Amino acid sequence: MSLLVIGSAAFDSIQTPSGSREKVIGGSGVYAACAASFFTPVRLVSVVGEDWPSAYTDRLRTRAIDLEGLEVRPGARTLAWSGRYFENLNDRETLDIRLNVMGEEYRPLVPESYRGSEFLLLANGSPVCHLDLLDKMAKKPRLTVADTMDFYIQNQPAPLRKLLPRIDGLILNDSEARLLAGEKNTITAARRILEMGPAFVIVKKGENGAFYLSRQAIRLIPAYPSEEVVDPTGAGDSFAGALMGALAASGRSDPESIIAAMARATVVAGYNVEGFSLERLETLTEKEIESRLAAFRTMITF
Ligand code: AMP
Repeated sequence: MSLLVIGSAAFDSIQTPSGSREKVIGGSGVYAACAASFFTPVRLVSVVGEDWPSAYTDRLRTRAIDLEGLEVRPGARTLAWSGRYFENLNDRETLDIRLNVMGEEYRPLVPESYRGSEFLLLANGSPVCHLDLLDKMAKKPRLTVADTMDFYIQNQPAPLRKLLPRIDGLILNDSEARLLAGEKNTITAARRILEMGPAFVIVKKGENGAFYLSRQAIRLIPAYPSEEVVDPTGAGDSFAGALMGALAASGRSDPESIIAAMARATVVAGYNVEGFSLERLETLTEKEIESRLAAFRTMITF
């Protein structure tokens, strides 16, 4: 079934203990669409400035990503983010963020052909822009999942609270869940978030895996035990993209399918961090995903 992803397309400048990269291709929409494209064709809504190299668009074009919704805005500059990871690779600091073309005034252009999409991923980005996109859809998607981050929890709390009753699921990491709910305990925080509207919450805990919480169930998924972490950037976005790609491919949105999709999302995010930027996702094959998924399944069965 059709999947629409909205998210950022960005220039990332990254420092990790393994090295650094300047102005490489990144952004929540880019990572999410790439990860989803292993499972199903994806429609991407994003915006870049005229400084965006056509070679970056060409790299996305080689995948099953429809780019009709990738707007190139004349006279504008692309979102630019730079970050530095600490030795433990779980913690990072944002050194600089320039929203540029994705600033407060940005409202997405949504091609007519995208408006009936059945699965919708609101990848990390402004909740104001997410609300605008929801209003532009021709009908309510079968499954809408949003990802968010501390930046929007702190800077756009009111639009975020308006968004939560309009989505089915929210994905965020443990510190963001505690920040959003104002709770010290992560599970309590996730329960509080359910009261704000979504039917389920997926909380990511870095190398400690992730959990799914709804009013009926809680399920835990460990992280894939990787020994080769080069650049954690986009781990969350590729997790969300693979999750929604796997669900759209199956056409299902029930809890058991979401949990099965979380295992696939864990495997894809685990591969993503083995290289800088999109490097590892660009060489990754479906066969590699299936083989790690089989290994992962034996690791978590008892
Ligand atoms: P993650 O490592 O999954 O948290 O995602 C990192 C990606 O998010 C990078 O590629 C950034 O370009 C992108 N990003 C950083 N800040 C923002 C923001 N405020 N809005 C949208 N995307 C962002």
